[in-house]
Amino acid sequence: MVRKGKTKIDRTLVKLSLNKEAPKSAFILLVMLYFIATFFTAYAARTQGVLTIGDIPIAYASLTGVFSMLGNICVICLVMLFRKVGYFVSLALLLFQFPMLVINTFVRHNYAGIPGFFTNVLIIVAITIIFFANRKITRYQQSIRDQAVTDRLTGLPNRFACGELMQDYIKHNERFTVVSVDLNNFKSINDTMGHHAGDKVLKEIADRWMNLADSAKTGTVDFVARISGDEYLLIISEYGSETALEDSLNAYKAELEKKITIDDCDYYMTACFGYAQYPEHSDDYNTLFAYADSALHEVKKSGSGSRVLKFSQDLLHAEKTLEIERKIRTALNNNTIFFHLQPQYDMNHKLRGFEALARMKDDDGSFISPADFIPVAEKTGLIDRIDLRVFDLAAGFLNDISGADSDLMLSVNVSVRHLMKNNFIEEMKKVLETHNIAPERIEVEITESIMIDSAEKALQRIDEIKQMGMKVAIDDFGTGYSSLSYLNSFPSDMLKIDKSFIDQMNLSDSSKQYVAMIISIGHVLDLKVISEGVESADQVEVLKKIGCDYIQGYVWGRPVPPEEASALVKAEK
Ligand code: C2E
Ligand code: CA
Ligand code: CA
Repeated sequence: MVRKGKTKIDRTLVKLSLNKEAPKSAFILLVMLYFIATFFTAYAARTQGVLTIGDIPIAYASLTGVFSMLGNICVICLVMLFRKVGYFVSLALLLFQFPMLVINTFVRHNYAGIPGFFTNVLIIVAITIIFFANRKITRYQQSIRDQAVTDRLTGLPNRFACGELMQDYIKHNERFTVVSVDLNNFKSINDTMGHHAGDKVLKEIADRWMNLADSAKTGTVDFVARISGDEYLLIISEYGSETALEDSLNAYKAELEKKITIDDCDYYMTACFGYAQYPEHSDDYNTLFAYADSALHEVKKSGSGSRVLKFSQDLLHAEKTLEIERKIRTALNNNTIFFHLQPQYDMNHKLRGFEALARMKDDDGSFISPADFIPVAEKTGLIDRIDLRVFDLAAGFLNDISGADSDLMLSVNVSVRHLMKNNFIEEMKKVLETHNIAPERIEVEITESIMIDSAEKALQRIDEIKQMGMKVAIDDFGTGYSSLSYLNSFPSDMLKIDKSFIDQMNLSDSSKQYVAMIISIGHVLDLKVISEGVESADQVEVLKKIGCDYIQGYVWGRPVPPEEASALVKAEK
């Protein structure tokens, strides 16, 4: 079983290093054409008289040259396309004619055949020259191709060869594991002992692993490659179980960790292994490379010694989070966080104000969804900077569009983290002063979960906000399961019913009753109620009936850039 796999790997490499041959059918066609041409050459030479095509008379004898040239072209093509085989077959065909030519000329004394005899000799010389010249070019091409698939230092296959092998496995639907290996502390060998010693270590590891793979002692079919620097790659296949795979990996680890002696110096190497599997993780070989690398990077982060880690989707999540964090930091530093405004209306479709929503673009100009970057910003503590930036920008907008005397409201989202910051109140005040905005026109949206998680301190903060004169809305109301007693002590002005309840509202009577109940509770507590995520006219109708005060949703307006928002305001006037 192992040998079978070995030859498969070998075959892939051979396939890589050889030109694709022309199809067999072309070979047969050329040989047949050669025979036909030869037959007609002989026939034309022997036939007296004239052939008339249309009005043109053509002597049969003059056609000999045409057919013999056709035959010659066939043998030249055979040599060019099929190299050695083509050459020897052509040679055999040409030599086969000699006895007949000799008998014809010297026994039957038909001296007209003498030019044909010499033509045959010349064409043999020609194809021999072509064959040897072609062989030189082919060898040169082959050596270039070999270089393209092998790593010079160690003689191992390179990344390109790995890609080819993986594609071959995937094509034949054969299970395999791709393992990215990175040596630990290799740089210190280079730095202290010089590159020469470093190269020898890399070669020694390559030799050991290549021997191990060839010995078939691992019980699996293995392919060892060097990717770059101190990075290797193993492609392991034909393992019956995960345990067999682990055993195989352990064999490579053990082989690596044996003492390496170079120029009388002993080295003890360790490495990190990260792996991904086909078909479990992906059926694209580039993705598998990337996944194995992800696992490798993750395992590199922790501790020393040899360690192995299998890829999992969580790793991608962690990487994506890091990537987004980097993008947020860049956007904050370059001042490229911006905002959109979503209109809020009363039930008569009169504009009440806008909610400011943070926006961020990716390097390619596409939007990164707040659902992706807000949670990362919250986790990494960058959210307060985003909140403040959006507030500052939106306050500037409010000042621009309506002058200080308008009663248009601006709702801003404030995260728990931002709210709890010691200088939160000062920051808010500063923005209001800068843009000359009356605090009554600002509504701070705080999620319901704050009341549950950090009630005491939050309440104190909210009091301070109220004392400043700003309004407070409880965002995503209904999702946080806060108790009525909390709600009662929460000094807010507005309840924002979460979109999930509005989505359900028209699907069952009980859902509608639930929304109606929230609105009633809000009114009992002397709060206004706004419904979020309203998408249909039916929902608007129902909300009117059950006494909702305001509406925010795609039905009457999506979040828009500030220019569009100001056009909306002008249209209202
Ligand atoms: P949110 O505060 O509940 O904001 C409302 C979200 O619902 C917005 O999504 C808005 O575009 C979306 N929306 C409004 N009407 C509809 C509708 O009819 N249908 C649907 N399908 N969606 C609707 P967005 O802008 O993606 O924001 C998502 C969340 O990100 C916000 O939810 C908020 O929690 C957070 N966020 C956005 N900007 C900021 C910010 O500046 N600071 C903080 N702390 N959080 C922010
Ligand atoms: Ca909100
Ligand atoms: Ca909300």
